[in-house]
Amino acid sequence: MDGEVALYTEDLGVRYYIQRGVVKALDDVNFRLYKASLTGVVGESGCGKSTLGRAIIRVLPPNGEITSGRIIYNGVNIVELSEEEMRKLRGREIGLVMQDPMTSLDPLMSVKDHLLETILEHIEVSRDEALKMAEEALSSVGLSRELLKSYPHQLSGGQRQRVAIALATVLKPKILIADEPTTALDVIVQKKVLDLIEDLMRELSLTVMLITHDIALAAERADYIGVMYAGHLVEYGRVDQVIEDPQHPYTQLLLKSVPDIENISMVQSIPGLPPDLVNPPPGCRFHPRCPYKMDICIREEPKMIEVGEGHYVACLLRRR
Ligand code: ATP
Ligand code: SF4
Repeated sequence: MDGEVALYTEDLGVRYYIQRGVVKALDDVNFRLYKASLTGVVGESGCGKSTLGRAIIRVLPPNGEITSGRIIYNGVNIVELSEEEMRKLRGREIGLVMQDPMTSLDPLMSVKDHLLETILEHIEVSRDEALKMAEEALSSVGLSRELLKSYPHQLSGGQRQRVAIALATVLKPKILIADEPTTALDVIVQKKVLDLIEDLMRELSLTVMLITHDIALAAERADYIGVMYAGHLVEYGRVDQVIEDPQHPYTQLLLKSVPDIENISMVQSIPGLPPDLVNPPPGCRFHPRCPYKMDICIREEPKMIEVGEGHYVACLLRRR
C-alpha cells in the first residue's frame, strides 16, 4: 500500500536555450514523491535527472526554463510561485544537496557563517538561538561543534558533504533532494553519507529524492524508483516492482549493466548512446537502442500506463 504523496509533477517540461538550438531536457514528466520515503531517480548521464531535481526546487541554470506542466506541493503549483515565495520555500520546505559541495559552499565563509546565514534568512530567532540550531544541525550529521570555525577548504570531502547536508536540513524541511550526493566520495564515506541521509529521513520524516546514475545503489536504498531516459520518465514504481520485474527495455538493460562481483562476465553495456536532446529521435526516444523496436516505435511516442498497482511504464510493447 503506497503512502501519501508529498509532491508530484504533471506533464513537466524543461528547455535549455543554447546557440545550437533548444535542448528538450524534460518532456511530459509525471513523477511523484511519497511522504517519508526515499525515491531513487536513475538513468545514464544526460537523461534529465538533475534537471528534474533542479526544476522541482526552481534552481535551473539561467538558460533553463520550465516551459510546461505543474509541480504540486501542498496543493500549490510551485511553477507559479514568485521568486520571493520560492526563496521562503527553499531550505524551509525543500532542501537541496549537490554532488560537489565546493560549488555550493562559499570558500570565504566559515561553516558557522553558512549555517547562521541560512537560519537567519528564513526564521526569526536570536543569534544565540541560531547558533544553538547550527550546533544541533552539525551534531545531527555527526560533526563536532569545533568545525563551526572551519572554512570549506579545511574540511575533507566527506565532512564537506555532511556540512552541505546540515545546511539543507537545518530548517527541518519536508523534502530533501540529493543530487549524486556521494559521487565524489570514496566507497566507505559514500556509505556513511547515505546512512546519514537515511537516519535523517527517519528522524525528520523526510521525503528524499536521491538522484543517482547507479541503479544498484538505488535498488539498495530506495523505496521507489523512477527511471529516466532522454528527458522522459520511462518507468516508475516501488523498488521491488522496478528491480524484480522491470517492464521497460531500458530499465532491463540498465540492470544488466550493473557489475556483479560473482558474475562479472555477465555484465552487458547498453549499446549506443543517449540521443542529442536538441534533435531527439521521433516516436520513442529509446528506439535507436532498443532490442525490441517495432515500426510503430519510430512514429508514436509511448505514454505512461499503469502495468501493476502504482507501477508505470512508457513502452508501446506494454499496451498490446
Ligand atoms: P548527469 O548525471 O550527467 O548530471 P542528468 O541525467 O542529471 O546527467 P541533466 O544534467 O539533467 O542530466 O541534463 C539533461 C539534458 O540537458 C542533457 O542533454 C544536458 O546536456 C542538458 N543540459 C543540462 N544543463 C544544461 C545547460 N545549462 N545548458 C544546456 N543544456 C543543458
Ligand atoms: Fe522499445 Fe518500442 Fe518500447 Fe520504445 S516503445 S522501449 S522502442 S519497444
